[in-house]
Amino acid sequence: MPKSKIKFGNQFLSMTFDGLSGELLELVNMKNSDNLLKNWNPLRNMPFSIKLKTKNGSNVLVQPPNRKNVMKHNTLMPKISIQETNNGIKRILIDYNSFWIEDHLSYISVIYSVTIKPDSCETIWNIEVKNNETNYLIEEVIFPILSGIYLGKSWEDDVLVFPFNAGEKINNPIEAYEKGSSTIGWKWQEYKYLYSIDGIETQKDSDDFFYRQCDYSGPLSMMWLDYFDSEGGLYLSCYDDKFMIGSLRAETLGKKRPGMGFSIIKYPQIKKGDIWKSPSYGLAIHDGDWHWASDSYRKWRNSCKSVKLSIPEWFKRSTALVAHYDFKYQNGDIVHKFKDIPKIYKQAIKMGVDHILISGWHKDGFDNGFPQYTPDPDLGTEEDLKQAVRFIRNLGGHVTFYINSQLCNIKYEDKKELIEECSVINKKGEIETTSYGDESITFSVMCSNADKWEEYLINVVDYLVNIIGADGIYFDQLGMAKPQFCYNEKHNHHIADWNKGYRNLILDCLHTFQNEKGNDPILFLYEGVTDIHGEYISAQLISTFFYYHCGAYPELYKYTFPEQILVDMVYPRKNLSMRPVHIAQVSREMINKAFILGSYFWIYDLEEDNTFKNDPEQYEYLKKVIDLKNVWLNLYGQGIFKDTVGIEVNDNGILAKLYYLNDSSNLITIANAAMKKEGKVKFYCDPSKVKIVTCNYLNEPNYPIELVWIPKEESDKKYIEIVIPNYELALIHIEFYE
Ligand SMILES: [Zn+2]
Repeated sequence: MPKSKIKFGNQFLSMTFDGLSGELLELVNMKNSDNLLKNWNPLRNMPFSIKLKTKNGSNVLVQPPNRKNVMKHNTLMPKISIQETNNGIKRILIDYNSFWIEDHLSYISVIYSVTIKPDSCETIWNIEVKNNETNYLIEEVIFPILSGIYLGKSWEDDVLVFPFNAGEKINNPIEAYEKGSSTIGWKWQEYKYLYSIDGIETQKDSDDFFYRQCDYSGPLSMMWLDYFDSEGGLYLSCYDDKFMIGSLRAETLGKKRPGMGFSIIKYPQIKKGDIWKSPSYGLAIHDGDWHWASDSYRKWRNSCKSVKLSIPEWFKRSTALVAHYDFKYQNGDIVHKFKDIPKIYKQAIKMGVDHILISGWHKDGFDNGFPQYTPDPDLGTEEDLKQAVRFIRNLGGHVTFYINSQLCNIKYEDKKELIEECSVINKKGEIETTSYGDESITFSVMCSNADKWEEYLINVVDYLVNIIGADGIYFDQLGMAKPQFCYNEKHNHHIADWNKGYRNLILDCLHTFQNEKGNDPILFLYEGVTDIHGEYISAQLISTFFYYHCGAYPELYKYTFPEQILVDMVYPRKNLSMRPVHIAQVSREMINKAFILGSYFWIYDLEEDNTFKNDPEQYEYLKKVIDLKNVWLNLYGQGIFKDTVGIEVNDNGILAKLYYLNDSSNLITIANAAMKKEGKVKFYCDPSKVKIVTCNYLNEPNYPIELVWIPKEESDKKYIEIVIPNYELALIHIEFYE
């Protein structure tokens, strides 16, 4: 008879498995003896399940058997073994030969393993699934599954960071997920939007779980999450260096049945006779907050980094772009023509900005004429456009052009063949289509892995760079839209290969296109943020406005990949009709946040609908912020973002972020919106090495002042205490003796 319980772990964490069924029963933090698995639920047998499609097309979810099943059918009992190497690395293997599916014994085999090193709080999980059944296709493998978790005595102080669009941070997610959010509708032109204006938007499944489940990538920027309180946290990640589509799910039944569930989903499509081996998954119980988790994930991601970051020199010193979508709109309205471009540029220069982005420039305009990427004749001739771009480039300015990475309007006769060959075929076997704004306009979604589509986009980039003279390309949707499962067999790819296609497209662009001088790359920028392409793309647009009120936390991505440049949108307070009122209300707050995070500003200039020109007060403010950012970049460069690791502010109303600079000095960015006078920041260092602390600030950015600082020591930790000056934004520079 096998042991009823098997314990496995080290000094950091301990797991208990059921010796009969192989289920995961306990997950204990050895530092405080806290078992994280506090609320067992038969709907979520841990630590895996697999989703099958049967011959008649229905879905069946297979979980590990429980003890009762195993007693009844002995063949369901897994073989459990523990191996240990000479250097103390231990591995538990749990090997199932068959499962009870649809009232009969089915030969699907699953082996999962957990590996633990003697000196590490992180365990590595793997799973292997073999399908010996003709009647089933294994579509999804959900592993690891953890359920019913909260930390310590109460769930109320628990915090979840989740990598949705650069990151979100949710306090007490068990109650926040249950509560959900308030939603408002907003109409601009023919676009009808829904915005959550508080809380967190969750869905409810048929088992009554409130959940968030997002795909990698775009909606997910990274494949890890962390759940922590003041005594440490739980980290869960997927280390897939092939970047196949995957999902993270966080769920709860709410406070009457408290506990969070976390799982990772992969979509392997295992047919009869096939074996699927998973990538590795990380699970750790760690000290401290989410920064530990971020450091751990970064270490893995950098270990499989294969291409260098490609940022043009000019872009590293640039602060903002002005985006014009008001050439030809979706409905055909024209605000600007090509001959207006020099004037538009001069307006940007007045704000201190040397970079403009042009959208709706092509035939039939924005959100309509995709992919007719030649100049719309109503806006002027190709020569007019070339001349206008040349005018800006001759003055040392920069012009980026909009193209959409995945949409093709189905109305074009001459694109029928392209659609036929390159569009995504969805699970139903149909061409995947979508609409934005005007619902009478339908686009087919083009597959990132279709060779002809990649070739088509590269030709457009070639035209814009080498004929029109652009030095920047913006790919809309590329890192933001949900990944597509494409069943088009002619494309010769796995259905979950979406991310690979865009990787090839961007790498081809980076290799092919350079500025005319030959040594500075073209700026490539896309909508969204993902670590799949973040390692080489020039910049990524994070658009925090749309979830600013619902836990937006771009610090999560920025701290994980601090050398990458993030672009964020800023909005005026007054006369904003493109976006809802609740966004206008936090205009200043969002500008300040983008500043201290080192984000590149995306400033719209759409006559009447969204322009700082119609809000003179905020226009003046933004101009001053840009001046200060210019001083920052000139004096110190971008720096490496350290978030709040190494600093501490005494007042929650003051935001501060730390940066490491190339010359080993440090920079602290400060947003003190209420201009508080008693603010102090602790900076952990050896005070005897500090030479001088100076501050550049809003209004007089070019005249730094010296700041008072006091050396201090507290429970063996040395630091200096700096008095924060009462300016709305400031840069504190700390210089050391050699
Ligand atoms: Zn495809």
